[in-house]
Amino acid sequence: MINIAIDGPAGAGKSTIAKAAAANLGFVYVDTGALYRAIGLYIIGCGIGTKDAAKIETALSGINIKLKFVDGEQRVILNDVDVSLKIRTPEVSMAASDVSAIPCVRAFLFDLQRSIASENNCIMDGRDIGTVVLPNADIKIFLTALPEERARRRYDEFILKGVETTFDEVMKDISQRDYNDANRPIAPLKPAENAIIIDTTGNDLEQSVNIIINTIRERI
Ligand code: C5P
Repeated sequence: MINIAIDGPAGAGKSTIAKAAAANLGFVYVDTGALYRAIGLYIIGCGIGTKDAAKIETALSGINIKLKFVDGEQRVILNDVDVSLKIRTPEVSMAASDVSAIPCVRAFLFDLQRSIASENNCIMDGRDIGTVVLPNADIKIFLTALPEERARRRYDEFILKGVETTFDEVMKDISQRDYNDANRPIAPLKPAENAIIIDTTGNDLEQSVNIIINTIRERI
């Protein structure tokens, strides 16, 4: 199987770009952030603090997460309920970032990610795919852009979806998650040693997708 890892900070355009590139290549697109978001959603629903490692570890036994792929769209199934839309709120973003720093949460999701990659030609995006989940990935890409531009893109997405927020709130969320993700002791956000670093600042979506597709096609 061909596995392509795309990591990078929040709002770098990973999911939109990876999804378009996967469709072009006929690969499955796997968004691993959605898994952490599903756990964040569950923990909020239990009324447990999103940094309470001991309670979260116990709560994990009540969680069953599956990914389904329907017409190239990933659906996240949490305890038999499709939560794909519910996980896209700013509150769940922050909860995902909190729970993702807890080692047992990362261990809980590891096998699921690995087994999808072993069964599919895929582009998998996240924070630690090239460094931890798929260290032998065929291609590793680290996708980034300046924080203001990432916040602007995320803000535009929220507005399109009707999520109530402000640019400042999104900027704060992105900066906080960047900091959390890059500074946690376990699986911190960083480029893999042999990653190709692509900065999409100033690009429109089509330009970024073309750069990624060309980068991949040159190597496979
Ligand atoms: O990619 P997305 O913004 O949906 O991810 C939500 C959160 O999940 C991130 O801020 C990060 O803390 C966490 N995450 C992670 N490792 C991954 C994917 C996401 O820690 N592979």
